[in-house]
Amino acid sequence: METVNGLRAERDRFLAFAFAAADALIEIGRDGAVRFAAGATRTLFGTPPEDLVGGSIFDHIFAASQSALHAALATADKQGRFAPTALTALTSGRALTVSGSCVPQLPGSVFLAFRANQATAAAAKPAASAQPPAAVDAADDPANRLLDAAAFDKVARQSMSAPGSQGQPYRVNLLATKGLAQAEGRLVKKGLGRELSGAIARLLKRRSVRGAATRLGDDQYAFISEHGASVDDLQAEIGALVRETAPEEADAIEVSGSSLQLTAQPGTEKDAMRALRYTLNQFTEGKSELTNREFVVKSPTLLADTVARINTLRSVITGHRFRLAYQPIVHLGDGKLHHFEALMRLADQASPASTVLFAEGVGLATELDLAVSSDVLAAVSRAKLQGMNHSVAINISGRSLMTEGFAADLSELLQSYRVDPGAILLEITESSRIGDLPAARETIDRFRAAGYPVCLDDFGAGSSDLQYLRHLAVDFVKIDGAYVREIRKEPRHVPFVKAIIQLCRDLDIRTIAEMIENAETVKILAGLGVDYGQGYLFGKPKIGLPTK
Ligand code: C2E
Ligand code: MG
Ligand code: MG
Repeated sequence: METVNGLRAERDRFLAFAFAAADALIEIGRDGAVRFAAGATRTLFGTPPEDLVGGSIFDHIFAASQSALHAALATADKQGRFAPTALTALTSGRALTVSGSCVPQLPGSVFLAFRANQATAAAAKPAASAQPPAAVDAADDPANRLLDAAAFDKVARQSMSAPGSQGQPYRVNLLATKGLAQAEGRLVKKGLGRELSGAIARLLKRRSVRGAATRLGDDQYAFISEHGASVDDLQAEIGALVRETAPEEADAIEVSGSSLQLTAQPGTEKDAMRALRYTLNQFTEGKSELTNREFVVKSPTLLADTVARINTLRSVITGHRFRLAYQPIVHLGDGKLHHFEALMRLADQASPASTVLFAEGVGLATELDLAVSSDVLAAVSRAKLQGMNHSVAINISGRSLMTEGFAADLSELLQSYRVDPGAILLEITESSRIGDLPAARETIDRFRAAGYPVCLDDFGAGSSDLQYLRHLAVDFVKIDGAYVREIRKEPRHVPFVKAIIQLCRDLDIRTIAEMIENAETVKILAGLGVDYGQGYLFGKPKIGLPTK
């Protein structure tokens, strides 16, 4: 008798506790058979509590959600409880969250606390289509705003070092909503606003850990969830949301999702995040040939490959496992050597262009630039001891210029070698990517003030070059090789080169032409007034600085 009372007390305590947060409480056996039900089951499942008892809970859950509930119950078996898990109810189509607990005194039972999803409930009102266009577009409502890329990365990184509530790693989920942007364009044209992405944003925010959801592109989202949460369920929920919010577009939007475990060796969270961001960017920037679905399926492999590539790159950088080739830059008037450009060479001697691009993509450009800089400084210092005064241009990624701490690190490095300013030039590459011009300007001004000349590389290759020249004061401009190589055969290049030269003259900037391969080109360029030249004609890049 005492035991039975004890069990009742235990159950009552659990009921009281669960009801504080739940809309309905259901006790099931391990096979899913409902033993007890209370609360708003009619609203949630379209069935009164008494009619649920005796049946199986799985009969009331959307097929796509059933595996999530099975997995959750398996977790409860091992750990005594499971974390909030998303499910969709079958009859009502409602999105629900369920959490579960076991009571030691009732070993065969699992108590499920169900909560209705507010977003679906709100979206269930046919408000968007029936009401006049809202004054505030749902997508612009601050409550619907998702995290920006930097804030999302931060939460993701933190989530990697701290496991979820069950001691299980969090998951990062990728959700492709193919056709959403186009569908929304049509809805906006009809004056219906962007209720749909507002509703999706609200749902994702609620389904994610610490609101960590972000929109990667028009038709892609990422969000972080508890281990037990299922992206399949969310897919179904979003499908339901689309049908409710914009039924006329339901067929035009294809939702697919995939999810990856957010795990990283302690101390490598940053690299794991780099890989994740890079992989996602490759996709959203259209650099991947894969379709949404293929990407979603392949993303775990892509991510693993990216992590492996980061590890290789990191060891190349930290172990200085590269060599430097030097290529001369000469005065076009008298052919005299002006300085060398240092060009990185990896073990295979192939062009480092793709490696540099990858380093930029995963945020390792600053490390790479600093490693190259220290090797160049060491080489210049060694040459000086042997009586050779060389000037060398170091390629610095535009990304590095905007990276906090880079200017200080490079300054320290330059000072530690005590080379003469003027012996080192800084050549800014990938200038088309400089997003934060004031930050770049501050860094450039600082080095120029310390006596280090600065050159803008590949001028004319990017669409924003003129803007850079307007904002950044530099000493040299290197005219992109694409104009130079073809100038003999392509007279249309001449007016462009002329214009660049005139502009640089007016700004008191000297010009360098790269990729000069023959004497005829020298003649044309010298005639146009280019100051310096670089190319195979004057010398190919060679490993090591000349010793005499
Ligand atoms: P870049 O800075 O514009 O370098 C010039 C590229 O043109 C080099 O390619 C060079 O080998 C090549 N080149 C030079 N003369 C000629 C010529 O007459 N004809 C032809 N066809 N090519 C010529 P490379 O070494 O493959 O480097 C490619 C790019 O990789 C560089 O373009 C630069 O953006 C980047 N890079 C190379 N080394 C470094 C580095 O240490 N740090 C950074 N951040 N970027 C680097
Ligand atoms: Mg260069
Ligand atoms: Mg160049």
